[in-house]
Amino acid sequence: MNKKHNFSAGPCILPQDVFEKSAQAILDFNGIGLSLLEISHRSKDFVAVMDEARAIVKRLMNLNDDYEVLYLGGGASLQFVMVPFNLMKSENGKAAYLDTGVWAAGAIKEAKKFGSVDVVGSSKEDNYSYVPKDYTVGSEYDYFHCTSNNTIYGTQMKSFPKVDTLMVCDMSSDIFSRELDFSQFDLIYAGAQKNMGPAGVTLVVVKKEILGKSGRDIPSILDYSQHIAKESMYNTPPVFPVYASLLTLQHLENNGGIAAAEARNQAKAKLLYEEIDRNPLFETFCKKEDRSLMNVSFRLLDESKKEAFDNAWKAAGISGLNGHRSIGGYRASLYNALPLESVQVLVDVMKNF
Ligand code: PMP
Repeated sequence: MNKKHNFSAGPCILPQDVFEKSAQAILDFNGIGLSLLEISHRSKDFVAVMDEARAIVKRLMNLNDDYEVLYLGGGASLQFVMVPFNLMKSENGKAAYLDTGVWAAGAIKEAKKFGSVDVVGSSKEDNYSYVPKDYTVGSEYDYFHCTSNNTIYGTQMKSFPKVDTLMVCDMSSDIFSRELDFSQFDLIYAGAQKNMGPAGVTLVVVKKEILGKSGRDIPSILDYSQHIAKESMYNTPPVFPVYASLLTLQHLENNGGIAAAEARNQAKAKLLYEEIDRNPLFETFCKKEDRSLMNVSFRLLDESKKEAFDNAWKAAGISGLNGHRSIGGYRASLYNALPLESVQVLVDVMKNF
């Protein structure tokens, strides 16, 4: 196969051995003479997958047993609903949100259906070109919600505020990409389809003690406590995405864990940002201090050169470089599995152009 340099924003590149092992599991899982797709999720072979997929997350994030790990359906978008359903008090519920992009705004829109929402910081008026930092969050809120990486604009929170309430974070587009003190969060969620695995499953990491306090009658399927009680098998889990996520996390663990991934991600981002800053034909969308290590959004200063540039990167075997439809331009997503060599190919195209 003539493998492309895949800069797609998600679903996106995964380690090659994950593609190979998951393809093999579809044909014959663990040598049991059955496909992963035709066995019960209650079989011992799959229960072992789910158990390890939950355990490896805590090892990688260095979290203790105060936390539970769930693999749920419905995408990160369902978490926009489950978070307020589980955490916003039924009486006088009130939450604080940071508005750093379209996905953050989507979470705000859903939370408003459950109670009152204060947007404590927003960069909307400046096309989400930076991450607001000048705000405080007091104990009057049931929780604070932020988005660690803004997939479309290429901004990233470099530090997290100290808040006087629960800390909830959507890490969909930079989970497992950098070292963080994960214990500063009470709830983390992430759609798998960037650094973690294929589309179809969402990771939720939640501190048990925060649950059961909203006073709401939560439908079972939306209740984190029910999923925890059933060890993430309340209903039939998306078995293939869970298995492929486990393989991706094992690959991460076997290659130096999050610290080593971060070092590789820093090197890739540095290479590309240095070229954008050096090359008079290109500029980024966002403030330098907030630049994302994961999604490098940039544009041509002279739009008339678009066709020629598009032809040049396509001819170099590059795929998935178009920017999000809402802002245009280009977006090079440098997720964990993208090799440095692919970034070098893109930088060479930009240099020659
Ligand atoms: N949050 C962020 C930061 C995202 O990048 C995305 C999707 N790219 C979502 C939420 C929505 O995820 P899903 O499509 O899994 O619902």
